[in-house]
Amino acid sequence: MKQIYNFSAGPAVLPESVLLKVKEEMLDWNGSGMSVMEMSHRGPEFMSIAEGAEASLRRLMGISQDYSVLFLQGGATLQFSQLLLNLVPDDGSVDYVHTGEWSKKAIAEARGLRNVNVVASSESEAFSRIPDFVSWNMSSDASYLHITSNETIGGLEFQTFPTNLSSPLVADMSSNILSRPVRVDDFGVIYAGAQKNIGPAGLTIVIIRRDLLERSPDSLPSMLSYAVQDKNQSMLNTPPTFAMYVAGLVFDWLNDLGGLPVIEKTNIEKSNLLYEKIDSTDFYVSPIRKEDRSRMNVPFRISEPSLEKEFLKKAEERGLLQLKGHRSVGGIRASIYNAMPIHGVRTLVDFMSEFERENG
Ligand SMILES: *Cc1c(COP(=O)(O)O)cnc(C)c1O
Repeated sequence: MKQIYNFSAGPAVLPESVLLKVKEEMLDWNGSGMSVMEMSHRGPEFMSIAEGAEASLRRLMGISQDYSVLFLQGGATLQFSQLLLNLVPDDGSVDYVHTGEWSKKAIAEARGLRNVNVVASSESEAFSRIPDFVSWNMSSDASYLHITSNETIGGLEFQTFPTNLSSPLVADMSSNILSRPVRVDDFGVIYAGAQKNIGPAGLTIVIIRRDLLERSPDSLPSMLSYAVQDKNQSMLNTPPTFAMYVAGLVFDWLNDLGGLPVIEKTNIEKSNLLYEKIDSTDFYVSPIRKEDRSRMNVPFRISEPSLEKEFLKKAEERGLLQLKGHRSVGGIRASIYNAMPIHGVRTLVDFMSEFERENG
């Protein structure tokens, strides 16, 4: 098989050992004679997979019993509205921080449903930074405060989170969940689509403080109600069983590595390699100020943008795949999630040096 490195922003690279385990168990899970895809979601085999996945995630993130862990569908995008429907009264309002493309989408969706205050924005600075917490202009009566912990397109990441807030903190962690330890107790809700740093597309994780479940109105369609989903252990209908199984294997892989502090060290090392390369020359440019750069998604430009097409073509010939920046911003973006081996980043950095020598 050809050795490639996949820098896709999502769906994204998975740990090779997990893929091999999936392959090994594909036709016969644990002596059952069945593939996980073929199992009843209410049978004992799949129940043990689902319970194991939740327990493994709880251990990994240190999620206490004060929180419910929901395995839902509809992607992070459905959460952009499901949050409002569950947590905010009809005449209520919410606070949002605008740091780039994904928070913009979340804000637009929220505006269609409730009153939205944008309490801080770095739009006037081309989203090159996270606005300083002291400048945030929070409302006193917001139902929650929403942030996007990592802007997947822009490459901007919160390194710390505001505390002592008057309303619960809600975070879209789709693209940096499990990349570093976080104190779950500092959040009301953490949500993430699975296809970046967790597993296959089709699964959405919602970690919600139990007292917030009481806010779900009885009038909501049952599929959209956090409270109903919680009561039914995310099995109101058929959950995305295969995606949950693979996610569980990824959680186990991380636990076996030593947990989030260990993967964080690797993520620091990987992202430093890449940013040091970018900063070492005027040939490559990072649009993000140093303190706020993402460890997961590293967008950069070539100072002579007409070379970018050639860069991408040559990279692909080397097996360095899916480095094209998001269509809305262009340029180059290397997504280096947990499952990207450090050797992949080294290979990219070597290629960047070589490309610069040939074209600089
Ligand atoms: C990818 C992404 C989304 C959208 O996720 P879907 O699961 O496709 O709905 C939302 N927020 C962030 C930060 C993302 O990276």
